[in-house]
Amino acid sequence: MEILADVWDDIMQGLIEPLYYFNDPEKRISYFYLISSLLLAYYVYYKAKEKIPFYKYIFNKKIWLSKSAFIDYKYFFFNGIIKVVLIAPLVNTWWYLGVSINDWMEESFGFSKTLLSENELIVYYTLTLVVLSDLLIYLIHLAMHKIPFLWEFHKIHHSATTLNPITQYRLHPVELIVNNIALVLLSSFLVGFFDYYYAGSVKAATYLEVNIFVVLFLFWGSSLRHSHVKLKYFHFLERFLLSPFQHQLHHSDNPAHFDKNMGSKLAIWDWIFGTLVRSSQVTKIRFGLGKSEEKNYNSFFKTLYMPFKNIGLFLLGKK
Ligand SMILES: [Zn+2]
Ligand SMILES: [Zn+2]
Repeated sequence: MEILADVWDDIMQGLIEPLYYFNDPEKRISYFYLISSLLLAYYVYYKAKEKIPFYKYIFNKKIWLSKSAFIDYKYFFFNGIIKVVLIAPLVNTWWYLGVSINDWMEESFGFSKTLLSENELIVYYTLTLVVLSDLLIYLIHLAMHKIPFLWEFHKIHHSATTLNPITQYRLHPVELIVNNIALVLLSSFLVGFFDYYYAGSVKAATYLEVNIFVVLFLFWGSSLRHSHVKLKYFHFLERFLLSPFQHQLHHSDNPAHFDKNMGSKLAIWDWIFGTLVRSSQVTKIRFGLGKSEEKNYNSFFKTLYMPFKNIGLFLLGKK
């Protein structure tokens, strides 16, 4: 009975937790970035000389109340539960893993002769984390597109036929777990590595402070990545930073745009690996997996079990 009560508590906590995202400066849907996104959206609306009132342009019923959007909303809460039950225990291990890596380095190489001050430590750690986690996210995303069984799970994100800021949470739990394991391993490794070069004792909080790069990125309309607002950056800048429209292109059902713009914040990985498409190269796009596939993903339950069904059929040689 006690276990049942615990599970119930976790589910309740998981359902409530996503609501705090609106007040969390590390989340794209924090009210602060939603306001900045709204201002940027007004700029796009003004430039495009739209004929409808602004509120109708933003709160378009066909987008926010579409069948696809309701699947996103269900994922928002469902993944909240997955985070509390499966991912939080995983994330809690990162610090211990980092400490173990630090101990291992001290045992293997002795104490470091070069030592960093606390400020240096924060700057180097943050910069390395921003760049390496961005590269890691790109590589995982590339794998999701190129490895057939991973694509079955990632398809859920691409099955959205309308985009709104909540669509970013439309991730199959398997994808969510893969992403989190990879990021926990990376940050643990970096904490262990940088701690080795620091003389004082660092607290977990030092490493967890919201960093300025993330705030700047989120501020420049990252909530618009999943939206119908075509915010583009200058042509040259889109080779370094991905604009919201470049991510919308990633959701295009046109085969010419498949496997393009797979980066998160930086566009340089797409540029280096030859998967970059810039806004000026494209005009009109339609979101989703294409008409023939869409009916297989038009309900929340279908999106949850479809990957397992397709992988099963493949293993049985029926696909
Ligand atoms: Zn993708
Ligand atoms: Zn997306």
